[in-house]
Amino acid sequence: MTEAAYGSGKRSLGVRRTVNTKFVPPVRRDDEDEYGGELMRRCMPQASGKGRGVDEESPYAYLMTDDRLKNIDIKMVELIMNEIMDNGPTVTWDDIAGLDLAKTTIQEIVVWPMLRPDIFTGLRGPPKGLLLFGPPGTGKTMIGKCIASQSGSTFFSISASSLTSKWVGEGEKMVRAMFAVARCHQPAVIFIDEIDSLLTQRSDTEHESSRRIKTEFLVQLDGATTESEERLLVVGATNRPQELDEAARRRLVKKLYIPLPEEKARQQIIEKLLSNQSHSLGESEVQQVCQQTNGYSGADMANLCREAALGPIRSINFADIHHISIDQVRPITVEDFIKALSIIKPSVSDRDLQLYEDWNAKYGISA
Ligand code: ADP
Repeated sequence: MTEAAYGSGKRSLGVRRTVNTKFVPPVRRDDEDEYGGELMRRCMPQASGKGRGVDEESPYAYLMTDDRLKNIDIKMVELIMNEIMDNGPTVTWDDIAGLDLAKTTIQEIVVWPMLRPDIFTGLRGPPKGLLLFGPPGTGKTMIGKCIASQSGSTFFSISASSLTSKWVGEGEKMVRAMFAVARCHQPAVIFIDEIDSLLTQRSDTEHESSRRIKTEFLVQLDGATTESEERLLVVGATNRPQELDEAARRRLVKKLYIPLPEEKARQQIIEKLLSNQSHSLGESEVQQVCQQTNGYSGADMANLCREAALGPIRSINFADIHHISIDQVRPITVEDFIKALSIIKPSVSDRDLQLYEDWNAKYGISA
């Protein structure tokens, strides 16, 4: 996964902070009107946390009095709140270039129902599972975040491969704890990146712990689906949809293809990234660059811009770097982009694209 060029603020599970490091409140607890106040009201004690081995000093002790977290280890809750609950900057639909049909479909089928559950009942009831599939770096994570931001939901984001690799032996508990904490923070969006590594077709060589994580995940997903009162949406993202098994395809009811950006979308990406930089590209030059980026993903475009932005820096004399003032750095030019085009190449092959198209024709919803 490529790091966000703008706006993702995504955390990488387990990298930045552990349960043992200093606590940073995930919500503003001094402001009752903020989301924190709402959370406190929803999860305030009906019963005391005493007697459950809950450390009263824990910043999350108040959460542990919620029955939905019964039998969940507070250390796990802390881990989820610190590492998986995402409080990064919000993402708007305008931050995501192109993908107009996908965006409209998502608004209709998931965002509005999350905003107005009273209207979207019965036949209009929202799906509880959504699959975003397509090449890497096309905005699937951005969309997951945007759904959460735009529906006023709490965003939980985890990479499925970390459940099987990083949290060996704990993955199953993590899954259970994550759903339990998400239930306390409804409406919530649980975004699972690389979901194929979790819900892959079974093989004889499958590890016992992976099998248990998968079973737990399916149980939780089914729970979220049958409890119509619950406002939980599971969004899975994958670059390898063909590896998902039948059980996964059935549960992630809506499958939405997130394709490579078209020329106009690529132009939007460049313009947005250049908007806060000093550059000399006119509209026709931006178009000229875009015409040469057929097959580039959104992430490739961001990399291209980063590479071009280094052009002016490379033209500075190394000895001058210490004292040069910022306005002596020359603007980014179209020549910088032309050079960058020879370095940054499209990351998705034609063969892979064909696989996505085929899978979309078979399982995707038309969007
Ligand atoms: P994915 O989850 O599909 O692998 P991401 O959502 O993580 O891709 O996108 C990676 C980065 O690529 C983003 O942070 C952004 O800089 C850029 N990007 C990808 N798609 C788009 C898009 N449609 N609009 C704007 N930026 C995009």
